[in-house]
Amino acid sequence: MTQVFVALDLEATGMDPSRDEVIEIGAVKFRGGKIIDYFQTMVRPRSVLSFGIQTLTGLTNKDLNEAPRFAAVAPKLRDFVKQAPIVGQSVGMDLEMLAAGGLGLPNRQYDTFEMATMLLPELRTYDLGTIAATLGVPPSHKHRAVADAETAMHVFNRLYDRIEALDDATLDRLAELTRISQSSLTHLFSAVVRERRGEVDSYGGNSIGAALLAKLGGEREATPEAAFLVTRARPARLEPTGVEPEISPGTLRAAMGAEGPFANALIGFEERPQQLDMMLAVANNLNRGGRTLIEAGTGTGKSLGYLLPAALHAVEHGDPVVVSTATIALQDQLIKKDIPALRAAAADAARLDPSSPIAKLENLQASVLKGRSNYLCLRRWFLAQREAVSSETQAQLYAKVTAWLQTTETGDRAELRLSQDEGSLWGRLAEEEGACVPAQCVFHRRNQCFLFRARAEAEASHIVVVNHSLLLSDLLRNGSVLPSYRHLVVDEAQHLEAEATTQAGFSVSRPQAVDLLKRIIRDEAQLGTVGALGMTFRTLTSVSGNQGRAAAADLQMHLQAARNASADALSGIERMFVTLGEFVERYDSLATGYERRVRVTGALRSDPAWSQVEIEWDGAAQPLGTLVELLRQFSDVVETFDDEVLPTRLEILTELETLESDSVELRRRLFQLLSQASDDMICWLSRHQTTGETSVHAVPLHVADLLRDELYRRCESITLTSATLTTDRTFDYIKDRLGLEDADELNVPSPFDYAASTLLAVMDDVPEPGQPGHQKALQRAVLEICRASEGRAMVLFTSHNALQTTYRALKADLERDGILVLGQRIDGSPRQLVERLLANPKTVIFGTNSFWEGVDIVGEALSLLVITRLPFSVPSDPVFAARSELFEEPFIDYAVPQAILRFKQGFGRLIRSADDRGACVVLDRRVVSRRYGESFVASLPDCRFIVGNADEVSSSVRDWLAVQNVTSAPRH
Ligand code: SF4
Repeated sequence: MTQVFVALDLEATGMDPSRDEVIEIGAVKFRGGKIIDYFQTMVRPRSVLSFGIQTLTGLTNKDLNEAPRFAAVAPKLRDFVKQAPIVGQSVGMDLEMLAAGGLGLPNRQYDTFEMATMLLPELRTYDLGTIAATLGVPPSHKHRAVADAETAMHVFNRLYDRIEALDDATLDRLAELTRISQSSLTHLFSAVVRERRGEVDSYGGNSIGAALLAKLGGEREATPEAAFLVTRARPARLEPTGVEPEISPGTLRAAMGAEGPFANALIGFEERPQQLDMMLAVANNLNRGGRTLIEAGTGTGKSLGYLLPAALHAVEHGDPVVVSTATIALQDQLIKKDIPALRAAAADAARLDPSSPIAKLENLQASVLKGRSNYLCLRRWFLAQREAVSSETQAQLYAKVTAWLQTTETGDRAELRLSQDEGSLWGRLAEEEGACVPAQCVFHRRNQCFLFRARAEAEASHIVVVNHSLLLSDLLRNGSVLPSYRHLVVDEAQHLEAEATTQAGFSVSRPQAVDLLKRIIRDEAQLGTVGALGMTFRTLTSVSGNQGRAAAADLQMHLQAARNASADALSGIERMFVTLGEFVERYDSLATGYERRVRVTGALRSDPAWSQVEIEWDGAAQPLGTLVELLRQFSDVVETFDDEVLPTRLEILTELETLESDSVELRRRLFQLLSQASDDMICWLSRHQTTGETSVHAVPLHVADLLRDELYRRCESITLTSATLTTDRTFDYIKDRLGLEDADELNVPSPFDYAASTLLAVMDDVPEPGQPGHQKALQRAVLEICRASEGRAMVLFTSHNALQTTYRALKADLERDGILVLGQRIDGSPRQLVERLLANPKTVIFGTNSFWEGVDIVGEALSLLVITRLPFSVPSDPVFAARSELFEEPFIDYAVPQAILRFKQGFGRLIRSADDRGACVVLDRRVVSRRYGESFVASLPDCRFIVGNADEVSSSVRDWLAVQNVTSAPRH
């Protein structure tokens, strides 16, 4: 690298250039790894620093009192930077901030964030610290300008090295794509190409598409850019071993004993009788077959509790076990932590006795399998590369995929960080059901196809990890993705009903319907008639000779008919969605939030205006039928061409067939939703508040029968587990919801000593939700108890509105006491909020949704959990409302148990290890004032329980947290 660069970082009073001011500037001038000069200065702002900024940067108002004003600093910085390109993390924002202060720097800029999203697609987050750690750059003191600028310099250099390692064709393609997307990185890619050509010009003029196609045609040796296209060996399928030994309880006891292999292999291992009980139950289920529900309290070691027996069964029998989870976090934990732990214990066992059952787990194979749309389809990718790039977003997406293809082994989009817009284009590159004909795909033949490689790996695996969504969609769509299996473990089983509801339901929005019609045929000013039919017509009529001329004559009339039908269908659909939108406005005029929902009940269908919807739907359905017929006729004509005459025949046919089946499906769905009321379906309309778009939805009223018929019946054994399955200490509710009335059950209590570690307090002087004075009293209560705990707290809300109101009311008061307040969707992502709490425990997080489950904060940083309101479902929610009608006492038999499961999940955030100590304060007095409230308390482990007013509870919390946890031993 011969060029001189300047790495820049600023600290400011906030993130808004129109309002906030620079308070510190750090810059480093460098060439390659050599630092030439530093620039560092504080800047005195006109406003005072907020508490949050002081906490984040470590700067105080006093530190800045003597500093120069921005106007005095700006010329010095300009002089330091001169013409050098400026690099930095999200450097565009820093330059905007400087410009707002009066210092415009027109220099070229390179954003390390943008570079990293392209060159390190595997990262979950792209903050500077994470990027630096991934690249092996030593950590710096964070959030001070010059240190961060120096880190950005090292990060830039390492990323630049990665660019230099790319081949010429990839670099050329990236330079072109980043030019189209108007990214300044295009200069960087071009500069590397030019610099390289000055030395060696051996790849000149190549394009990635040509190189790859040449490789496919076998015309040249493997080029570096085509390295991911090497033909791969297929792993051997898992075959039954033919032996039928049962998993012996003795094997499990010995493995988990104080002298067993797990004790040697796992750091911090402790014998847990509860975990062993769970293992024995899972083993029994696998040995005998059946259905078992297991609630495993926090700290049981639940995942190892089912993984060990599942792995023993699968390895001994050559019989795979599928493990389904609801969240990616748990999938990651299984694959990255628990399964390696099994292998480590197996290696230890093998040293002592190579013939022991545990030793055989050394060869344990495990894989994650996802739904088909997660994998890049190479056929579609290369087809897309032949076409012109039509938007900046498309160019950004293609640039990311081009760089990613150099390293990915999986083709799984989860490895890529895509913006929402880029993500919406992903579908065009992913495998689409019905559009893939493996027997005719070169990538499949060579075992290069990512989807089929993932499937082959799953077929070779003992443990196949999937999510509930794939598990259920595979069942409902003829089981074409998962390998055949007889044994299933469902973790996070409390989500199974909701996922089955989603998978068995469907929805249609106006943009979806319109997009489909436009994909079939549309007229465009510049391009003429396009869409599948227009393009097919052009392709066929460009074929020379008689066949092309005959096709033109045959299809000319059909093309005009298709244009007319499309226009009619389009206007019918547009009118229909306008009328449906009016229904939402009329029936749900008071709703707030992001989405309005109106259930389509008998009463709504008998509204005279509903017949207008049906008329408009009829007006669209008939021309849609005509389009389906025309798609078939075009297919028939394409069929008559030979591959030599029409090399893209197969691709055209696949496209036409996909559109035909999508159109048939659209008609079927809209007919079912609008004209064919069924007692077994819950239908509703929704209207998005910001986009104004209306959608129609339908889901089954019951899923228990569906689960019984489609899932349980096909499995010899199924184990369903979670930390929250029981309500009021029974499995009755979950059994009823999941159709598992005859299942065995096991409740494994948590090994933690909650009586010694946890104070459960109910504040009885906050009026019930909806009563006068509720919000004010709630605010006062939160303020007092967060002061009592000195932060270290998480406050759980059931709505974002309530969160925002409380946040606005309390932030200043708490921050005056030195307690930082962070709000979900206000101060960052859940992960960022948790990181800030861990870095500075004098913090309170206000959270909704995702904070009720899955957040795992061990230790003192989370000592207080506040549940502001019992988490009942919103009564107007269409699914909840429709299912409630099935109960004689819907509130007690449906709403309460559902809320208890959620309440238990929330409570479970507090105590995450045997050494944790904390207080859970419930601000909803219905827990003690209503009869059903007892069930909420009875569903929790035995804690120290008190009821009192705000002062009493705050003082109890203070006293409770002042005591060290002396009973850290698990309760057996
Ligand atoms: S086999 Fe199917 S999914 Fe795989 S590359 Fe070919 S068309 Fe795409």
